[in-house]
This record gives sequence, C-alpha cells and structure tokens, in this order.
Amino acid sequence: MKFTITTPIYYVNDKPHVGHAYATIVADTFARYHRLIGDDVFFLTGTDENSQKNVEAARAAGKTNIQAYLDTQSAVWKETWKQLDISFDDFIRTTEDRHKKGVIDFFNLVREKGDIYKGTYKGLYCKGCEAFVRESDLVNGLCQFHKKTPEVIEEENYFFRCSKYRDQLLSYIEDNPDFVQPVSRRNEIINYIRDHFEDVSISREKSEWGIPLPIDSTHVMYVWFDALINYLTGIGFGWDEKLFDRYWPADVHIVGKDIIKFHCALWPAMLLSAGLPLPKRIFAHGFFTIDGERIGKSMGNAIDPLEIAQIHGLDVLRYFLLREIPFGGDGDFSFARLELRYASDLAKGIGNFVSRVLSLAEKISYSYEKNLGEHEKEAQEACKSAHAQWKQGFEAYALHDCLDAAWDLIRHGDQFIDRTKPWSLITNEKTNAIQIIGILVELVQQVSVLVYPFMPHTAEQIWERLGIKNTQIIGEHSIIGSWRSFKISHIQRGSPLFPLTR
Ligand SMILES: [Zn+2]
Repeated sequence: MKFTITTPIYYVNDKPHVGHAYATIVADTFARYHRLIGDDVFFLTGTDENSQKNVEAARAAGKTNIQAYLDTQSAVWKETWKQLDISFDDFIRTTEDRHKKGVIDFFNLVREKGDIYKGTYKGLYCKGCEAFVRESDLVNGLCQFHKKTPEVIEEENYFFRCSKYRDQLLSYIEDNPDFVQPVSRRNEIINYIRDHFEDVSISREKSEWGIPLPIDSTHVMYVWFDALINYLTGIGFGWDEKLFDRYWPADVHIVGKDIIKFHCALWPAMLLSAGLPLPKRIFAHGFFTIDGERIGKSMGNAIDPLEIAQIHGLDVLRYFLLREIPFGGDGDFSFARLELRYASDLAKGIGNFVSRVLSLAEKISYSYEKNLGEHEKEAQEACKSAHAQWKQGFEAYALHDCLDAAWDLIRHGDQFIDRTKPWSLITNEKTNAIQIIGILVELVQQVSVLVYPFMPHTAEQIWERLGIKNTQIIGEHSIIGSWRSFKISHIQRGSPLFPLTR
C-alpha cells in the first residue's frame, strides 16, 4: 500500500523550536512505521517562503536580498531536520520553480471552473494569521492566536468562489468521519463551514513578494492559497505526473490546531474546484507549553530541539515528546518530566530489560535454540497481542496505544525473568535456562520492532547486538510481528542503552 504523509510547511522567519520538531517527529514516526511494514511511503515537509512575514524578517535582519535570506533560512530548517534524522522524502520550498509552476497550473484549473472573480473586500486582517478574521473570532478585540489588534483592510482583490463548495464539503465531512481528526475538532469545522465559510480573497495588490497571478501581474497570490498547493507540488504536481499519480491523495496532513480551518475548509474547496481528490485525513495536534507557558519567539522560551537532542539524545527527545504530549491534545514540556521519563521508562524500562536479557545470553554463549519448552506459547501470545495493539494504534492514529503495547511487552518480559529466575538455572538446569533465555531474546527482538518508529536508533542498536541487519526487518512485511523470524546467535551485550548516570 502507498502512504503519503505531510507536515505543515514552516515559515522561515524563525528557526525551528521544539513545537515544530514535535509535529515533524510525529510525521516521521508514522512514515517509519509504514516503511517498516512494507508500505510505499512518501513523506513531505518544507518551507513557506512567500509570506510577508518572511519579507519583514529579512528587513529586520538588515537583508536587502530577500531570496538570499530565504535560502539561508530554509537551509537552517532542512539541516535541523537532517540533524534530527527526520526521514523526509522531499523538502518543498514555495520559492522553487517547480512549486511556482504548479501553483499557476492549479490557479488555471480553478479559473477555468469559473471560480475566480474580482471584487472588493473590506474586513479585519490579522498579519499573524495572514488571514481575514471575523469580529466574533476576536477575544477582547485581539486575535486569539496572536494577541494583536487586526487591521481594517479594504482592497480590490481576486476571489475564490469557495462558498460554491460549502454543501459538497459538509456532506463530504459527514460521509467521511475520519477526514477531520481528532473528532473533537470536527464539530468546530462543521460549524465554521456551515455558518462562516465565504468566498476568500486570494490575491494581494502592491505586495512586493509572492507569485504573480497569471491573469494580472499587479497582484500576487494570497499566501495560503499558494502555500497549501505545496502538498501537490511537493509530490510532482506540474512536474512529474507519474510521481503525483502514485502518491496523491495524501493519507494524512499533520497540522497544528491553529491552521485546521485552512486545511479542512479552504484546501478541500480548492481541490474540489480543481477537480482533484481530497486528502484522506487531516490530523490536528495540540499546542504545547513549556513549563506551563505557550511557546513562541515572543515568549523567549523557544527551546532548540537540536540542543535537547545533543544533551539528552535524539531518541530521548523523540520518546519524551511522543509519550508525554497526548497526540491530538495539548501538553506541557518540562525538563523535570523529561528526567523522570528517562529514568523510569528508558533507563529502568527498556534499557534495563534489554541489558538483563543480553547479559544472560552472553553468559551462556546463547546460540539459536529450536525448542523453547513450556513457556513459549505464553510469550508468543503476549507478542501477538502487543503487536495487534501496536498496529491498531498506528491505524487509528493513537500513538499512545502503540507505546503502551511496547511497554506492556517489556513489563511482561521483566516479570517473566523475575518469575523464572533463569540465572539460578544455568548450573544445574542448563536446558531449561537456555529455553527461557531463548524466549527472552525473542522478546527483545519483538520489542525492538515495536519501538522502531518511535526510537529508530535504539532499535538499530538492539538489532546490531542481536546480529540482525536493518534491511532484514525494515519493509519485510511477513517478518513484522511474526514469531521467531530470525535464528539469533552470537549476541553482544554492549553498553547500557540508557545509562542512569549521564
Ligand atoms: Zn492572528
């Protein structure tokens, strides 16, 4: 099966903070899971560069060459994702020719449909949102997301006739309960489309930066109209039809909850107009705070994810974010919690379990044992149910269920060791000891597969110690979740995966 996943494209007026890293790591986790089970994956991320925000940031930094500024800034984002080992398949920039060409093609499809017209618009505009906002959206006269007073703007613009798609969109959302996720966001979107979804201005006059309209070069494309199309141009629209046909529609767009309206209303209306299939799902993750405070440049607490990865380890950062922030809900980041999670779940959890088993195996110079005796059935059942829960969790976008499944299996393994005490059997009941250790080795292998999407480096380290190559597991559909696929021998214990004293 094919699986296409995207992150939002990020503004380059700032460098990535841990909130951006979270969304991107979530997408990476799904991408890795799907590659692991043998799916044909396309994982897209990129940068949004035609925003007025970026131009202002370039000015503020004293740069006169806007494109050069964007090049440098975009490279920072790409490099950060590489350092964080984000396994993206492409990185789209909205200033690239392939994107601009696709946007023009797309615009022409919508225009041919009769969905572009010229009109005058007067309304409140929030620069932070880069969107017109309604009086009723304001909190004490301020944008709820940017805490700023919107400007009153009156312009003659080109409009996209999205109201034409209101009913079609509402019935689509009705018929496809998975389209807007989590479900708590669904009613918000339905109300918005039903009561407030009006034609949107899609051009700006006198804007110095952006993609000129093919029908009027004195106007540039409104940044959201342009940016959303990245999901198409990033996978070939307008430049590689075969690639596009292979990977569109996206299986899921991962977005922040502040941009869900654009993704669940404007974007599908654009696609309906252009006659293209809609994405299968839009998943909004929550916001998170740092020690109780909302992250943001203005807050001065925008934590650099690279720094955390350097100090604590990449897999520790990944694990912490994915474990601690309920997927779809809001969460809080704190270093105190990170230390707690590290000690309890990693050092004393998976780290200790792997180390206990591999030391036992090393002690008896374990080599593949065919007959695992009376306890095999029970262990096999535990793996089977953990695997089923893990798989179900991924399919239902419930990452917590997947992590629970892995840690339940670790606990099962620990309890099995405590109960059978294999170390006490090595001298007098060697056969029994070998069988128990054989089961434990298999449990370690099974756990490593379950944690791979979340903590790829940890899984790879375990495989190395078990003498398994990545290529023997990743993409090998028949092996994932099956019992004893590898004849494991020559185990190396190695150093602790998550040492308690660092
Ligand atoms: Zn705003």
